[in-house]
Amino acid sequence: MKVIVGKLVVVGHPGVGKTSTVIRYIERTFNTEVSSTIGASYFNCKMEIEDIIVKFQIWDTAGQERFKAMVPMFYRNANAALLVFDITKRESFDSIKVWVNELKKNIREKIVMFVVGNKIDLPDRQVSKDEALQYSHSIGATYYECSAKEDQGIQQIFVGLARAVSQLS
Ligand code: GDP
Ligand code: MG
Repeated sequence: MKVIVGKLVVVGHPGVGKTSTVIRYIERTFNTEVSSTIGASYFNCKMEIEDIIVKFQIWDTAGQERFKAMVPMFYRNANAALLVFDITKRESFDSIKVWVNELKKNIREKIVMFVVGNKIDLPDRQVSKDEALQYSHSIGATYYECSAKEDQGIQQIFVGLARAVSQLS
């Protein structure tokens, strides 16, 4: 079996559900009191896609500006990025552009980019699926929507990532 190492960075505005999304996938749970990430947390997971094993290192970054100086270290050698926003918070969608620029500035290799609209369980949507899809395509990213809280769409994101990373090389 072929083994591929995926380095996934998870970025986005504070409070959009980055940590909740990763924890939902890794631990199959949701905790309403996720402690806010200081700098970054690191997770490992192993996935099998057909006859390929993808070993993911997941770097869950904090979105806070004050950590920005640390961030390039997390980007280094990343071949996948989750750009997370909250569909009920317009500004969190707008700030995806900043993260995309950061990634493009810091990463020279090929990278898989997934834009993820989280919190679809909430009623007050401020960003339509169409707009998010259109924007994602314009930057060469794939768009997914999910709810870390209700466990909707999470599996698809991580399986999609593993598949895309396994097709990179
Ligand atoms: P991070 O700062 O991006 O890592 O965000 P967190 O994972 O810490 O989540 C921020 C807040 O949003 C917490 O109160 C979570 O419980 C909540 N949250 C995360 N995902 C969801 C979701 O899918 N739906 C709802 N309703 N709340 C969520
Ligand atoms: Mg967090």
